[in-house]
Amino acid sequence: MSSSVDQLADAIGQVGSGLFLVVTGAGISLASGIPTFRGSDPDAVWTRDVTELGTYRYFQEDPVGSWSWYLSRFNKVIGAQPNAAHHALVALEAWQISRGGSTLLVTQNVDTLHRTAGAEHLVEVHGAADRLRCPVDGCRYGAPRGSLARSEFDLGPFLADPIAEHLPHCPDCNMILRQHVLWFDEFYTSHEDYQWARVQSAAGLMRLVLFIGTSFAVGVTDMLVQRGLLSQVPIYSIDPGGTPPPYPGIHVLADKAEELLPAVCQRLGATLPLSH
Ligand SMILES: [Zn+2]
Repeated sequence: MSSSVDQLADAIGQVGSGLFLVVTGAGISLASGIPTFRGSDPDAVWTRDVTELGTYRYFQEDPVGSWSWYLSRFNKVIGAQPNAAHHALVALEAWQISRGGSTLLVTQNVDTLHRTAGAEHLVEVHGAADRLRCPVDGCRYGAPRGSLARSEFDLGPFLADPIAEHLPHCPDCNMILRQHVLWFDEFYTSHEDYQWARVQSAAGLMRLVLFIGTSFAVGVTDMLVQRGLLSQVPIYSIDPGGTPPPYPGIHVLADKAEELLPAVCQRLGATLPLSH
């Protein structure tokens, strides 16, 4: 791992007062006990047909089925805690800002663990598991900017007896509420919380992009890799499996993020939060 620590610490050091962009996928939350969508762990949700279940079309056709499927997944998310990789990214953010630079952390994960860890310059580009919203565009609780806290709704009756009448309804227009996540048949621009304009703007400014635990299978990773290659920005990927990304020119570090990132922090003198 020591050569990975050197490489990554050097690359981050060279960002100077520029923008350090980090993109995380499900792999970073594996050490927090959350199964990945597409990974090879036995609980990987991808083994079921997520591209059909994780769609607005499915929600429209069968809201009870859509809700049941999401709750079975989100139950693994509720109560999960950030791991050493999430905490190290917070330390790197503070370190980069303290030397006059900037950072942006773009996560594909809806598990809110970066927010829990204390990341401040954060875009949850695929939404957040702790929010719901009305499916009606233009409703005050729907797109383009409305949402509601999941904790405001008692899902107990639905879990005990999964029928449509037990699903949470919009306080304004009474429609059955939906997950506040980006589905496979939707666009990044479909809700302001996904902050797509901010991600695109960061892509034009970044001096280094670090991917962690992503399988490069979604639109945001494709856009950022293409922009990085075009502007000859160094691109790194932390992937313990060492899987070659579907693009040339990416430096792959075959390490676990929860081990590598704290070591990089130590090398750079970035202070980790006291409790970790
Ligand atoms: Zn509504």
